[in-house]
Amino acid sequence: MKVLVINTGSSSLKYQLMDMDNEISLAKGLCERIGFYDSVHKYYGKDNYYNKTTKNIKNHLEAIDDMLSYLVNEDYGVIGDINEIDAIGHRVVHGGEKFSKSVVIDNYVLDGIRDCIDLAPLHNPANIIGIEACLQEMPDTPMVAVFDTAFHQTIPMYAYIYAIPFELYEKHAIRKYGFHGTSHKYIANRTSEILKKPLDQINIVSCHLGNGASICAIKQGKSVETSMGFTPLSGLAMGTRSGTIDPALISYIMEKEHMTAEETTNYLNKESGVLGISGVSSDFRDLLKASSEGNERAKLAINVFAYRVKKYIAEYIGVMNGIDALVFTAGIGENNALVRRLITKEMEYMGIKLDVAKNEQAVGIEMNISKKEANVQILVIPTNEELEIARECKIVLNI
Ligand code: AMP
Repeated sequence: MKVLVINTGSSSLKYQLMDMDNEISLAKGLCERIGFYDSVHKYYGKDNYYNKTTKNIKNHLEAIDDMLSYLVNEDYGVIGDINEIDAIGHRVVHGGEKFSKSVVIDNYVLDGIRDCIDLAPLHNPANIIGIEACLQEMPDTPMVAVFDTAFHQTIPMYAYIYAIPFELYEKHAIRKYGFHGTSHKYIANRTSEILKKPLDQINIVSCHLGNGASICAIKQGKSVETSMGFTPLSGLAMGTRSGTIDPALISYIMEKEHMTAEETTNYLNKESGVLGISGVSSDFRDLLKASSEGNERAKLAINVFAYRVKKYIAEYIGVMNGIDALVFTAGIGENNALVRRLITKEMEYMGIKLDVAKNEQAVGIEMNISKKEANVQILVIPTNEELEIARECKIVLNI
């Protein structure tokens, strides 16, 4: 069976067609700058075919149309007809408290996703546009919504309630939600396979360290705590996001820098994190280069990042009374040996013992990088959110 995975942003469309009999990717692509005259469509088809075109893609409907024309193209397409697509899985950022698992999309579900727009004003509207465009192009293909927040709906109330008046939770649904749920869930399942132990018998700290970064405490297969909160701004220091700061700083920055609330939120989302500290870049490759050339602020940014990750790991090991596996994933987690070494330094008393040589080898591949005698397995696992979404489709649709 073939599942098309769709991830729409406000001006982008990311897609991947998966053959779920073998769990392999058949083709994938990315449309960017939708709505601009110089939109870009990158397509990766069969036999390493790659094509990049710049054209005017006016809206998401046109982007979906363009995608379908590539997928069925006689020369570089991977299917003969769009009816070969058995299901479509949509990544939806926010499911609020309404959606604790993936669901088949119908009008009721679409209304539910609309109800969560307040909680994710930038993301959910784009996801809805993607769903509506697919509904128009492929009205008979079953569709499933897979929520970034759903995996974290098992977090207990004492962990998701902020210490502010409870009425704010009741009136405005203000609480911790958590994000990157699809990635953390994939990591949980894969860790269980690698360790050859049932998911409900293992505890994991999953570190999704990309441009956006979050950590998840997974107890017996369920998320019990995570570092992002009401929005993806909290927790770790990220590429451009501040992560958790003293909340009193917001009004202080507004006053001192003469900023509005919106400008300050933007500042904390787009100009902070390791970019803000270093003044160099949000990209760890640039930071590593600058640091090796003696740039002290780049070095500081790397240290701030690693230190925060380390603190969360220790906290989550405490929350779960010990772990079986510590997992690194996403761009930095999968590729950056130096950051992994900084994070795991001096954690032996918690059972974390890094094999330095194996750590150096683990670049973009799945690998166990802990010392043989260690109690905690340190794993590098490339994440695969598309595969997790396609698997969810199979489960939900029972096909
Ligand atoms: P993501 O958001 O998961 O795509 O991750 C992006 C981050 O991963 C950026 O900070 C990149 O610098 C970092 N990254 C990706 N590839 C590498 C690599 N080969 N070495 C070091 N960092 C990398």
